Amino acid sequence: MMISEKMIPLMKNNSAIRMMFEEGKKLAAQYGKENVFDFSLGNPSVPAPAEVNQAIRDVLEEEDSLFVHGYMSNAGYEDVRQAIADSLNRKYKTEFGVNNILMTVGAASGLNIILKTLLNPGDEVLTFAPYFVEYGAYVRNYDGVLRVVPPNTETFQPDLATFESMIGEKTKAVIINTPNNPTGVIYSEQTLAGIGDVLERKQKEYGTSIVLISDEPYRELAYDGAVVPFVTKFYRNAVVCYSYSKSLSLPGERIGYLLIPDELEDSRDVFQAATIANRVLGCVNAPSLIQRVIKRCVDAEVDVAAYDRNRNLLYNGLKELGFSCIKPEGAFYLFVKSPTEDEKDFCDVCKSFNVLVVPGSSFACPGYVRIAYCVSYEQIERSLPAFKKIAMHYQLV
Ligand code: PLP
Repeated sequence: MMISEKMIPLMKNNSAIRMMFEEGKKLAAQYGKENVFDFSLGNPSVPAPAEVNQAIRDVLEEEDSLFVHGYMSNAGYEDVRQAIADSLNRKYKTEFGVNNILMTVGAASGLNIILKTLLNPGDEVLTFAPYFVEYGAYVRNYDGVLRVVPPNTETFQPDLATFESMIGEKTKAVIINTPNNPTGVIYSEQTLAGIGDVLERKQKEYGTSIVLISDEPYRELAYDGAVVPFVTKFYRNAVVCYSYSKSLSLPGERIGYLLIPDELEDSRDVFQAATIANRVLGCVNAPSLIQRVIKRCVDAEVDVAAYDRNRNLLYNGLKELGFSCIKPEGAFYLFVKSPTEDEKDFCDVCKSFNVLVVPGSSFACPGYVRIAYCVSYEQIERSLPAFKKIAMHYQLV
């Protein structure tokens, strides 16, 4: 066998989301693109703000070509990191500096870098279902063990009592994601304070250090004036994995950062180790051109109102048809309760009406499906009659 044994399970589980995406392409070829309603992939549907494209042009015209396309410090350009720290300080009244920001190849690499930095073989990482399915693979990359706190399907805020009971001597890190993929829930201040209290208590009890890793690609995508609480205010040993993939609609450009506050235990060592992890993982540094662009658009935002219109149309439409789900406060996903016990059957029925959605079991939360509403408003409008047929199939209307 040519390939590594570690790759075999990964190939078997090749993401249900990706498979659904491929399925969508096949159906579109068969029935025509306008008759297939693909809600499977979290690819932004709102273009990057105009200032991003302008900044790309300006960087190429105004900055030295050898510099723009060159290597730099593995942690990224200092002026870019300072600009990000200043922006955070303006928004959150914090005091971060250049040495707290490490530029990464999106949140995916931020997570891999921090896990490589922290984990010894056998260390446990906790996360809350439903969760972004790649966490399992990322943790296994460094011979860690992912343990999943079962979902609290009442509110989709974490169940803190169960969380506390699952923390042990081997717990090294906890990954949270807010606003959440796939539920759209924003963890409340009360939740974050609760997580912080539990972790403080458990650190004392075991004499260990537990790092709270906050995965935040959807930080800027919040609706109805909802505020996304800033995690470092609630717990000392916290780091943030940020990404511009969704906040500036740049997923293919692969850019984000890790925030490693001074308050974190052994902060300087962690920062240095993370910088080396970035290099030895083969990223070397985050892409240069787009770092230069981020400096010029550090406070730019995508048109969140467009996602909000989609959210309201789909949420109200599905509720009227008798489907059950909580209203998302952020991100661009709806997590809908399956009208039948096995949500994979529900996904198949949806597919028979050319509607593609992702089973909740892909997020360790069976009985639900994820609908990504980062699509055109027209697609949602056109899909509602198909959802009506699905609702009729289950006698919801
Ligand atoms: N974390 C979550 C919760 C996500 O939904 C995604 C992408 O969809 C990522 C991380 C990866 O983001 P990036 O494109 O920044 O690597």
